[in-house]
Formats: sequence, structure tokens, C-alpha cells
Amino acid sequence: MQLLKDKIRNEGRVKSETILKVDSFLNHQIDVELLNEIGKEFKERFRDKEVNKLLTIEASGIAVASITAQYFENSKVVFAKKTESLNLDNDIYKTEVYSFTKNKAYNVMVSKRFINKEDKVLILDDFLANGCAALGLIDIVKQAGAEVAGVGIVIEKGFQQGRAEIEKLGIRVESLATIDKMENNKVRFK
Ligand code: 5GP
Repeated sequence: MQLLKDKIRNEGRVKSETILKVDSFLNHQIDVELLNEIGKEFKERFRDKEVNKLLTIEASGIAVASITAQYFENSKVVFAKKTESLNLDNDIYKTEVYSFTKNKAYNVMVSKRFINKEDKVLILDDFLANGCAALGLIDIVKQAGAEVAGVGIVIEKGFQQGRAEIEKLGIRVESLATIDKMENNKVRFK
């Protein structure tokens, strides 16, 4: 997606060979116009799939999924929570996810009320690195007995293992921008 690649080139900040910061449009400040185009593009990529739920992880995935949901008729957004709280139901799907950026493991949880076995779930996230977040969400969909329609990623780091891990499960991955290499403050796309 050219618009996204241009934005990454112009505003992305390479923090290391493996970490890209995009907090001016995706992870802190949000460019709604760009997200709108991202939503349309996800719909285009998955137009052959029946989807009634968009599943993501808080926090950055929520904006992506919410804007995308407008293009999937009658769909609902569900986001996995990272912290246990009194507000969360007791009846939950839970799985452990290792955070690439924080270098630690944490639980993610979804109330059983919001995913059930009739659901066709498109998983969305901002980044794909080693695939732990997406695999955690896939595990939750499987616990619910629902179907994974695919995984949609805004920015994939193609030099990491995420895609291979997800495709091993026979699940389709669509990324809107795939980075091949990051060095000297420059991003090279596939
Ligand atoms: P994975 O679980 O695939 O290893 O990593 C994906 C998750 O880690 C995403 O949800 C995202 O929040 C975070 N992440 C991974 N790599 C990057 C990166 O280069 N930049 C940013 N901003 N987040 C990343």
C-alpha cells in the first residue's frame, strides 16, 4: 500500500535494526485519514472472506480494527485485554503472549460472551514481528471454537518469523507494508 509506505518513509523512526517507531500516525498520535485507507485496503484484501468479528489486542490495534470494521458490514470489534480487572467477566479465554517490544510475557483475555463458535474472525494488528501476538489471538479464537478468517497486519517486518509461524497453521496473512531491512535510519521495503 503505497500511501502507507510513503508515510513510513517520511515519519517512521528506526530505533534499532528491529524496532520501528510510528507513533506520529499509528501508535500514539493517530492519522485517521490514513487509517481509513488502511480499513478499505483490509476489506479489499479479504473481500472473499465472510467476517463478522474483528479481533485485536489493546491498545494500538483498537483504532485499526474500529476503522476497518466500518467496511465489514455488520461486524463487531473485540479487543483482547492485557490487564485483569474487576470489570472483566470471570468466564474468559486467556492465553499467554510474549511481547517483542517489552521483552516479557503477559496474559491476554477475552470474555467468552464476545466470541463464540459461529464467529468468523479476522485478526488485525499494527505490527507483525515474531507472531506471538497474532498466535495468541488465534489461540483464543480456537478456544472459542470459532473460525479464523485470516490475519491482517498494517506493518510486517519480513525479516522476522511471524508470517512463517502463522502460515504453518494454514492461516492467510495479509500485510499492507512489508519491511525487508532497517538500517542507518532507513527502511527498505520488500
Ligand atoms: P510479535 O508478537 O509479532 O512478535 O510482535 C507484534 C507486537 O509487538 C505488535 O502488537 C506491536 O505492538 C509490537 N511490535 C513488534 N515490533 C514492533 C516495532 O518494530 N514497532 C512497534 N511500534 N511495535 C512493534
